[in-house]
Amino acid sequence: MKRVGVLALQGDFFEHLQTLKKLGVEAAEVRNQEDLAQVQGLVIPGGESTTMSQLLAETGLDQAIRARAKQGMAVYGTCAGAILLAKKVLNDGGVKGLGLMDISVERNAYGRQVDSFEAELEANGLGKLKGVFIRAPVIQSVGRGVEVLASLDGKPVLVRQGNLLAGTFHPEIEGEARVHQWFVERLKAESTKHRF
Ligand code: GLN
Repeated sequence: MKRVGVLALQGDFFEHLQTLKKLGVEAAEVRNQEDLAQVQGLVIPGGESTTMSQLLAETGLDQAIRARAKQGMAVYGTCAGAILLAKKVLNDGGVKGLGLMDISVERNAYGRQVDSFEAELEANGLGKLKGVFIRAPVIQSVGRGVEVLASLDGKPVLVRQGNLLAGTFHPEIEGEARVHQWFVERLKAESTKHRF
């Protein structure tokens, strides 16, 4: 049985733990490098990417996560987590991300008028999903190795690249568990190949 960690430095990590537990997955909070060493996959929650990036640097988890991800650990970043995974962050507010995924992400790009909203999404292989967007970033461009799994108004909202998955919306808030389920199934099935 794989143990999935949820980065628990800041943000809505509790909802991700609940979602994983609902799926029968062994899930654990990751607050330091010792915690990270105990998990085979990692969810990076939504929250405030500027704060989270500072805490990642203070704990040394930035380098540790980067190293594990490069060795093939599966990582799913939601919202602020997606910002942290991106190689390029526009309007970065000082965020120093992990720079792992070939995507360019603009923070807070849906604007103040639409701080948060819900949308029904159609995701490849997952069907209809309810997405909650909260001060969400927009994925402005993706590299050639990145597969777009779902889009909204012509912009990608769920993308993957090898062992990395990033979404700009929060499934965990509405109790939507299918993205997590998909993530965990890939994690089990592909553990030997280290790829989705
Ligand atoms: N606006 C936040 C940021 O820039 C992300 C919001 C979220 O994770 N829901 O980090």
